[in-house]
Amino acid sequence: MGNSSLVTYTKLSPHYDSRDGKKITNITIHHMAANLTVQQCGEIFQTREASSNYGIDGRGQVGLYVDEKNASWANGNLDSNQRSITIELANDGGAPNWHVSDTAINKCIDLCVDICKRNGIDKIKFTGNKKGNLTMHKYYMATACPGPYLESKFPYIANEINKRLVNGWIKEGDNWYYFENGAKLRNAWRQDSTKKWFYLGSDGVMVRDKWIYWRDHWYYLGSDGAMYANEWAKDSKGWAYLGADGKQVKNAWIRYKNNFYYIKPDGYMCTGEYTAPCKFDAGGKLEATL
Ligand SMILES: [Zn+2]
Repeated sequence: MGNSSLVTYTKLSPHYDSRDGKKITNITIHHMAANLTVQQCGEIFQTREASSNYGIDGRGQVGLYVDEKNASWANGNLDSNQRSITIELANDGGAPNWHVSDTAINKCIDLCVDICKRNGIDKIKFTGNKKGNLTMHKYYMATACPGPYLESKFPYIANEINKRLVNGWIKEGDNWYYFENGAKLRNAWRQDSTKKWFYLGSDGVMVRDKWIYWRDHWYYLGSDGAMYANEWAKDSKGWAYLGADGKQVKNAWIRYKNNFYYIKPDGYMCTGEYTAPCKFDAGGKLEATL
């Protein structure tokens, strides 16, 4: 709950209702039908029997007029006001198109992302009617709001918000990525639902079929990208063994399926003769005990 930290100006309006315990599920974007600053809009909501939770002007200022915990008088429908956070955007063009600046639209996207995150709205669904959760004033009453220009931007706005709400594993083309709030994770480990570990490289791509060196240790990532653990990996230098924590074992004995193997200081399995009295067969099994 609370209000957005993007707010730069606050002028609380006396015009609001309780949400009556209804959960915030929607965002409704309006236009001011004028090129008002957030201060001018705030003054109007002191006297006119109307309000919105937020306003955004052409300079990208964000005004707060009704706390998010309360329902604004914006949509002309009590139930809708109680379920929505409402935002008024200034127009830098008049009728009939009611243009809105990119600055205001971009700030509106920032604000919507913030609203979604704080109110547990996972995804924006713009359906072009009130079944979705990104809605227009005109869905609730006879009005031109939000005007043809802003209306045409709703699919774009919804898409941009959703891009920034993406979290988790996403496949793009042949590559897997891990997103946190829409940003690709880089140079980091993440687990999947089966608790296997995966590594995201400097470009964000999940690394596959490759050794990686991380914090003084080598790890091997298999063809599916999963980190090897308690497993052998073979490369051009021979057999290496990855311990329970995924680190390449060096200079150590490995007991594997009731046989002993020795991993040399270079991280590869000893085969054939080694320092007496140890003797290994061609497969690396210890033949002669210590
Ligand atoms: Zn409106």
